[in-house]
Amino acid sequence: MAIYTPMMEQYLKIKDEHQDAFLFFRLGDFYEMFFDDAVIAARELEITLTKRDGGQHDPIPMCGVPYHSAANYIKNLIEKGYKVAICEQVEDPKTAKGVVKREVVQLITPGTVMEATMLEERDNNYIASLSHFDDGSYVIVYNDLSVGENNIALISGGWDAVLHELYNQPIKEIVVASDLPDIRKEELHKKLNITLSYQDETTFNAEYRNLCANLNDERLVQAFSRLLNYIEDTQKRSLDHLRPAQIIKLDHYLSLDMYSKRNLEITETIIKKSKHGSLLWVLDRSVTAMGSRMLKKWLDRPLLKQHEIEERLDVVEGFLQGFMERDALRETLKSVYDLERLAGRVAYGNVNARDLIQLKQSLENIPELKTVLMQFDNKKITELSNRLSCPENLTSLLSSSLQDDPPVSITEGSIIKDGYHEKLDTYREASRNGKQWIAELEQKEKRETNIKSLKVGYNRVFGYYIEITKANLHLLPEDRYERKQTLANAERYITPELKEKEQLILEAEEQSVDLEYNLFLEIRDQVREHIPEIQYLAEIVSQIDVLQGFATVSEANQYKRPNFSQDRLSIKNGRHPVVEQVMKHDAFVPNDIILDQDTSILLITGPNMSGKSTYMRQLALTVIMGQIGCFVPCDKAELLLFDQIFTRIGAADDLVSGQSTFMVEMLEANHAIANATENSLILLDEIGRGTSTYDGMALAQSIVEHIHDQINAKTVFSTHYHELTTLEETLRRLKNIHVRAEEYEGNVVFLHQVKDGAADQSYGIHVAKLADLPPALIERANTILRQLENNSEPNTFQDGQLSFFAEADQAKPVNNPVNQSTVRLVNDLKDMNLFEMTPMDAMNALYQLQKQA
Ligand code: ADP
Repeated sequence: MAIYTPMMEQYLKIKDEHQDAFLFFRLGDFYEMFFDDAVIAARELEITLTKRDGGQHDPIPMCGVPYHSAANYIKNLIEKGYKVAICEQVEDPKTAKGVVKREVVQLITPGTVMEATMLEERDNNYIASLSHFDDGSYVIVYNDLSVGENNIALISGGWDAVLHELYNQPIKEIVVASDLPDIRKEELHKKLNITLSYQDETTFNAEYRNLCANLNDERLVQAFSRLLNYIEDTQKRSLDHLRPAQIIKLDHYLSLDMYSKRNLEITETIIKKSKHGSLLWVLDRSVTAMGSRMLKKWLDRPLLKQHEIEERLDVVEGFLQGFMERDALRETLKSVYDLERLAGRVAYGNVNARDLIQLKQSLENIPELKTVLMQFDNKKITELSNRLSCPENLTSLLSSSLQDDPPVSITEGSIIKDGYHEKLDTYREASRNGKQWIAELEQKEKRETNIKSLKVGYNRVFGYYIEITKANLHLLPEDRYERKQTLANAERYITPELKEKEQLILEAEEQSVDLEYNLFLEIRDQVREHIPEIQYLAEIVSQIDVLQGFATVSEANQYKRPNFSQDRLSIKNGRHPVVEQVMKHDAFVPNDIILDQDTSILLITGPNMSGKSTYMRQLALTVIMGQIGCFVPCDKAELLLFDQIFTRIGAADDLVSGQSTFMVEMLEANHAIANATENSLILLDEIGRGTSTYDGMALAQSIVEHIHDQINAKTVFSTHYHELTTLEETLRRLKNIHVRAEEYEGNVVFLHQVKDGAADQSYGIHVAKLADLPPALIERANTILRQLENNSEPNTFQDGQLSFFAEADQAKPVNNPVNQSTVRLVNDLKDMNLFEMTPMDAMNALYQLQKQA
C-alpha cells in the first residue's frame, strides 16, 4: 500500500475534491503541483519538472511557480481552458502543530476570472449554464461575473436552437447537469470550444431571492440556481454583487442563426477569427471598452420594434449634426473608465485604491459629460443626458479620503489622505516626528564625531543603525555606540535611544498601516452601497458611446438614415460596409435592390467573381445595421423589419470543417426552410453547387419553389444554373437579376453592376484565363465548351462526376440487372424528403442505399 508523508496525504485528499483543476498547493513562497498535474503543467507552462520524495515511494513528479508571479501562470492556464484551484495555508506555520492546515480558497475557472489582466477589455466574459427539461425546453443563463450581469433565455426550439443561440457568444465556460447526454457535452466542448463544468444542485437558495424576483417560471429559477450554486462553490464568497436576472425574450430581437453569424462575419471573420474585417470592426468607434462591449451585444441582438430603433436613430442624427461637439464628447468619454467592471470589483471585494481613484475620476467627469451633451441642443440627447446622474456624496467621499496616487497593494498604507481620520493623523505624526528625530540625530553625530560619511540607515533585520566606514573608525570614540554588525568595509552601531525611537516609529507605522487597511475596507463598503447607481450610469454612458460611434462612422463613410416600411425594401446605391473599406484602389460599385410584395425572390446570375455574394451579404449587413439603429451604407434606404435572417453562403472553410460541402449546404438550407416566416430574409448562395449538376439543380429549383409557395420570405438566391432563370415564367414573385460582366478583347471585365434580367453567358473560362492557366489548356476548354453548347443534351461528365438524375432518366432498358438496381436506388433517393430529415436520418438513409448498391 502506498504510504505518503502526512503532507502528501493532505495534498491527495484536497486534490481528490478538485479532480478537474490544477491544484496550486502553497508551500512557503511557491505553489507546487504534483503527479499528473505537475507533468501537464510543466508542459503547458514550459517550466521545469522535478521530483520530490513523498514517503516510501518512487519520487513524485513536481513543479512549482513562485507565489509572487503566479498570476501570469494562472492566466496562461485559464486561457487554455483549464481551471486552477488555489490552495493556501490557512494557519500560521509557526504555531501549527503537525502539517500546516491548508484549504482551497478559490477555484479560478475560465468563466469566473475577475483579475483585470485576465479579462479582454472590450469583450464580456460569460460563464453560462444550460439546463434541460422534460418538456424538451432548455434554459440558458449568462453571467458576467466581472460586471455582475445576469441574463436568462428560455429556448423552446430544441437542441439546434440552443446551438444557434450559444454560437459566437463570448462564453468561456458552461455549467451543465452531469446527466446531459455525452454527445451534447461533446458538441458544446468541441463545436463551440467552451470549457465544461458540472453542477447538479439546482435547489433555490433563499439568499438569492432578490436576484430571482423577475423569474416567473420554475424552469428559469432552477436554471439560475444551477449557475449561482456553481459560482458560490467555486468563488467561496457571497454573490451579493450580482444584478437581478434579466429575461431575454428571444422573439423580441432579430434572430440570426449560427450560419448567419458566421457567414456574415458580424463580429469576427470566418477564417482568421479576427475582429479585423468584420462588421464590428467597421462599426466600432466606441471610445470606451464599455461601449465596445455594448455594441457587440447590440450586434448579437438587433431590434424588432420600430420605435426602439427610431429612438437610437434620432440620437445618432443628433450626434451627427453637431460634429464639433462630437469631438468634445469623444474627448470627455476618454476620461471615463470602465465603470461597469469597477463596480464589479467593488462588489466582488477585489478592488484596490487605484481602482477607486479611477472611479472617482470617472464620476468627476460626469458633469462635464452632461455639459457637452447639452451643447448638442437636441431633445433626445438631452433626455439621455438627464439620465446621467452622479452619486455626489460618493464623489466627495472618494476625493476626501483617497490619496491621488495610491499603490496597488491595499495592505501597505499610503492610501488615505491626511486629515481624513484623526487617529491616523496621530500615528502619522508620531512616525514623522520619529523620522525627523533620526534625521537630526544623523546631523548631530556627524558634527560631534567629525565623520562626514556617517549615516543612519535602516533594514528590516536590524532596524535603524549608525554606519561608519572602516576608514573612519579611528575617529570614533571607543564606547560611543554599541556594535551590532560588521560589514566588509563598514561597521554598524546602535544606541538605546535610537532603538527606543525605532520602536515608536515602527509601532506607529504598523498601527497606521492597519488602520489604513480598515479605513479602506470601510470606504469600499460605502462605495458598495452605490453599486446599482454606478451600474446604471455605466449603462447610459455605454449607450451614449455606441451611438456617438454610429454617428462618427456614419459621417466618415457617408451612411444614410434608413426609413422603415411595411411592405417594401428599397436600397438606392447600396454598398458592402466592409468590402468598401478594404478596397484600396478600385472604388466599390454601388447597386440598388428592391424587394416588395410583387418581388419576394431575386434570382441572381452572373459569372464567378462578379460580385453576387457581395451583393447578397451587403443586403443582410445593411438590414442588421438598420435594426441596431445605425445609419446604412447607401444613398437612400427604405427597409423592412425582418424577424430572422438565414444564410447559406459558401464559405472557404466548409471543407476544413470535415462535413461535405453538400451536407453543409443542405443543413443550412434546411434550417432556413424549417424556421423562416414571411417576415424573414433568406440568402442562398449557389445552392446545389456541392453536388453533381442535375441533382444539385433539381434541389435548387425545389428549394426556390418551396420558399415561393410555402414561406414567401424575402429571398435572394444566386445560382450558376442558367436553366433556373426560366423560373421567372412560373413563379410570379420571382425576378431575375444578374451581375454584369463584359467581354473585352477576349477577356472578361467585371463591372460589378447588378441589372434586371438573367445573365447570358458563363465566364468561367475567362476567369481561368485571368488566373493565368496555360493558353493550350484554355483553348482546349473553349473547344469542349463549343461542343457542349452544340449538344443540347446535358452531358454527364460536365462536373467530372456522374449525375444520379441524368442516369435515371436515360436508364430506359430495364432488363439489365445493373440498371434495374440503379433505377431502384435512384427512385429511393428521389422519394426522400430531405427537408424533413435530420442529418442523422440522412446518414442512415445513405447507409441503407449503400448496402443495396
Ligand atoms: P461571386 O459571388 O459572384 O463569385 P463575389 O461577391 O465573391 O463574387 O465578389 C468577388 C470580388 O469582387 C470581391 O472579392 C470584391 O473584391 C469584388 N466585388 C464584388 N462586388 C463588388 C462591387 N460592387 N464593387 C467593387 N468590387 C466588388
